Amino acid sequence: MARQTTHLREALLALLLLVGCEQRSTQRSSETAREAPAATLAPSSLDTRRSLDAHPPHRVTGFLKGQLHAHTNASGDSETPPAEVHAFYESREYDFVVFTDHNTVTDTPDGQLLTLPGIELTQNLRHCEPAPGPDEACLLHVNALFTEAPFGRHRLQWPKFGKREDLYARAVEWATASQSLAMLNHPNMHYGANADTIAAVAAKGLTLLEVGNQSWDSQNEGDASHPSTEALWDEVLSRGIRLWGAVTDDAHNYNDVDTAMKYSRPYPGNLGFVMVRAEKNALAIKQALARGDFYGSTGVTFTTLELSPAKCTLEVSEASAEFEVISRGRTVHHETGKRLAYVPSRDAGYVRFRVRAEGRFALTQPVFLTDLQ
Ligand SMILES: [Zn+2]
Ligand SMILES: [Zn+2]
Repeated sequence: MARQTTHLREALLALLLLVGCEQRSTQRSSETAREAPAATLAPSSLDTRRSLDAHPPHRVTGFLKGQLHAHTNASGDSETPPAEVHAFYESREYDFVVFTDHNTVTDTPDGQLLTLPGIELTQNLRHCEPAPGPDEACLLHVNALFTEAPFGRHRLQWPKFGKREDLYARAVEWATASQSLAMLNHPNMHYGANADTIAAVAAKGLTLLEVGNQSWDSQNEGDASHPSTEALWDEVLSRGIRLWGAVTDDAHNYNDVDTAMKYSRPYPGNLGFVMVRAEKNALAIKQALARGDFYGSTGVTFTTLELSPAKCTLEVSEASAEFEVISRGRTVHHETGKRLAYVPSRDAGYVRFRVRAEGRFALTQPVFLTDLQ
């Protein structure tokens, strides 16, 4: 009962936010029209004002710590200006953050911390197919990461109803047309996407699935009638579909998080991130994400991560960790220690690793055994 009550409160709050967000967004859009004219939806309107390789390459020092989902006050449901969000992540030793405001590409301050352009393509609908459950809405969100779409708010003149897979797919197509990497966000928030939907959208060019959104309402663990986000990911991977898993903050509150918690909006910051093996420039980071050369984490980090179909070697920074090898949704090997060397079975289909230490975890990308020659 307590859980249902909580769920109902979250659903009502989400709908309130929806209304508030739209009102504020409309107001903001007109307020800022002079500096950042609202762009039209059409991907054909994309400009080339910024090249992804604008940042000079730096020496490879291993993994870069990055955030793929962060909101600013350009979203309407965050109070924090972009410069403060930038300072927040810079002070926490991040290497890059992608700003992903709701239907808005926010201009990004730069510094030691790379800030990269993105947008959360936000379709908040009351009706879709399959229909949402009681007290739920169709909150279907896709991040277009590294977008080359113009700064400003994008008015998505899309139909207000349809099949979930089609609604997600048009966002993925928009992302692709703006040279972005598409990530299907928080699949369990209001249970937006099941495995069939994710598989259908993956066929349209999806690159990433947000397996570990650390926001308060992401329902990653699922419930009695819905699988966890990791189980969804495994179901899709088991069908032979290649989709990389991301862990993010989806932060809306930063220095004001204590205030936010008073109003039952404990959106976190610095809880979920990705570690990307790339040089410190936008193009290299984008390419590493596209090929799955990264892992998601809530705090566990690797000093060694060598994954190949022939052999997988992992070593953590922590003194000891629990290593789980997962294949087709099942744990096929379990081991405790600082280091794991594992030779996957040829018939495993794929293996991936979940590593836990000190109450935190890391998720590697899958290794596909079909790649074994
Ligand atoms: Zn979202
Ligand atoms: Zn978000």
